[in-house]
Amino acid sequence: MGEWEGEGWRWIFKWIKKLFAWEEDLVGDLLVVVNQSPLRANTRDVRNVVGQRMEKDSSPSYLGRLPWRNRAPPRAQLHLWFILQGILNTKERLHRLKFAGIEDDRCALCMEEPETIDHLFFSCKISSRFWYFCCNQWNLSLCLPKHTRMCLLSWFGNPFKNFDKQLWISMFYVITWSIWDIRNKIIFQAFMPNWEFEKRRHFWRLGIWVKGWCPDFPFSPMQAMEIFGDIRGWKTPRYPSKGLVLELP
Ligand SMILES: [Zn+2]
Repeated sequence: MGEWEGEGWRWIFKWIKKLFAWEEDLVGDLLVVVNQSPLRANTRDVRNVVGQRMEKDSSPSYLGRLPWRNRAPPRAQLHLWFILQGILNTKERLHRLKFAGIEDDRCALCMEEPETIDHLFFSCKISSRFWYFCCNQWNLSLCLPKHTRMCLLSWFGNPFKNFDKQLWISMFYVITWSIWDIRNKIIFQAFMPNWEFEKRRHFWRLGIWVKGWCPDFPFSPMQAMEIFGDIRGWKTPRYPSKGLVLELP
């Protein structure tokens, strides 16, 4: 069924008969799906159970009770609220409303699927890589739900405590903000993302936002990606329950 290649697992499927061309396409789709949750050697498996109770509780009032406030700049908090309310101007929405200049509803990142909120942030193969890269920095292999609220609730059921818990929460904001930022630049500025650079920018942004709610944070945002192993698990003497970041990098 597969083999380890260094730290990662490579799926190898063997079939008892020669596949037709259309079946080869299905195998391609299957590989895309299974590779969205890459297995990693020596990392902890985490299973988030998202059950009926959480589904019932995923109403806006429940989401409003989540302790997420002040872990990101106000605009990023508002942006997440737009995502949860499903009122972001994705290409699918703009195309449906016949906005001038929007000629198709294809996702700006992968150009393969209609750009809905669920697709752009959670099931797009490009943004999924971004989520899984970030999870890997925590030595976690997460299988994220493909729907906004389920993903948020799954993220909220994190296994971390103290500073790490707050850092993990900030990361959710940063990932959603970064995906939207990159997508906007692709559409409006003909931006060609260099994904290695975007990963660094992402961690730099995280470092700056953390400084906003934790003034004692001693690490340089510029090096946040390289030293993330030290940042995780940092024992802060205190972190304020409230804090604001005034700038959005
Ligand atoms: Zn996409």
